[in-house]
Amino acid sequence: MLTTLTSIVGQARVTANAPLAPLTTFGVGGAADWLVEVRSVEELRAVVEAAAAAGQPLHVLGGGSNVLVSDAGVRGVVLRLKLAGVSQPSTDRVRAEAGLTMNGLVRWMIGRGLAGLETWAGTPGTVGGAIHGNAHYGGHDISELVSTVAVVTPVGEWREEPASAMGFGYDTSRLFETREVVVWADFFAAPGDPEALRAVARASLAHRKRTQPLQLPSAGCVFQNPLPGRDVVPAGIPWSSGALVDRAGLKAARVGGAQISPVHANFIVTNGAATAADIRALIEQAKQAVREQFGVQLREEIVYLGDV
Ligand SMILES: Cc1cc2nc3c(=O)[nH]c(=O)nc-3n(C[C@H](O)[C@H](O)[C@H](O)COP(=O)(O)OP(=O)(O)OC[C@H]3O[C@@H](n4cnc5c(N)ncnc54)[C@H](O)[C@@H]3O)c2cc1C
Repeated sequence: MLTTLTSIVGQARVTANAPLAPLTTFGVGGAADWLVEVRSVEELRAVVEAAAAAGQPLHVLGGGSNVLVSDAGVRGVVLRLKLAGVSQPSTDRVRAEAGLTMNGLVRWMIGRGLAGLETWAGTPGTVGGAIHGNAHYGGHDISELVSTVAVVTPVGEWREEPASAMGFGYDTSRLFETREVVVWADFFAAPGDPEALRAVARASLAHRKRTQPLQLPSAGCVFQNPLPGRDVVPAGIPWSSGALVDRAGLKAARVGGAQISPVHANFIVTNGAATAADIRALIEQAKQAVREQFGVQLREEIVYLGDV
């Protein structure tokens, strides 16, 4: 596998037994069998096809801000997309490649007087990660702003899909099932005054600073919020996983180097010495306590990479 990968992207962009912890915001977990950086669609398709031909699992890592990597690492190939271009194919569309950070995209749009994504300032991670999990902020999903998504399928085929075909839902998209790799997404854009857009972006950043424990490593919200129609929350309790964990008495609970944040009970923060097993144990404690006390089954928003 190493020889094949090297022949596609060159030696400098393949690492065997590559530590993944530094590439995630939790900062925990083991190594990938092979970590590969791709810089073009051709390289991406070739790596996807090579992994499929060798029967090796293929995973994508974006900004690593929504994943928990197993202490035992990740088998197979872990891809990082170094495709971070952005362009304006028409007056009302912005095309962002999947490896671009959401913050980079917000800045680019504001700088050109284009409105649409300014409230998303401060969302960690990449465009690809935001599309995969249908990132949300302030009661809105990123999919509301997406017109088209280009993907490479697990057998290396190219597809351009309207947002309506992406299976977007709360914290989800069809990518969980199809395991396609996002290459770019087109976002709706409209003219806007850069100063006014900057003010909105600053307000979003300030709100995050006030409400989230940003000084310590985390992966944002660990659990999805309960959903009407899917879950039943006892009367008098907010439909919020943070509130449920808090009222179950687990705010500030610790396992090893991991702690349920005293600031926001849907965040788990780490002290630099945590393991993935510590974080997973806290997740299980929270799920059990909320199930037993309120009859609500919490579901993870974060994604496990490897056998956590
Ligand atoms: C402090 C903090 C605050 C946060 N606030 C929010 C928030 O307000 N709203 C919100 O929704 N989330 C929030 N998050 C979570 C996280 O930022 C988002 O889920 C983000 O969209 C993840 O992007 P990423 O690039 O880091 O993805 P990663 O964590 O790298 O990956 C997440 C998943 O996406 C997949 N993926 C990544 N790139 C691609 C691609 N190109 N093609 C296919 N699959 C891909 C990965 O395989 C993985 O399954 C927060 C996280 C932190 C640390």
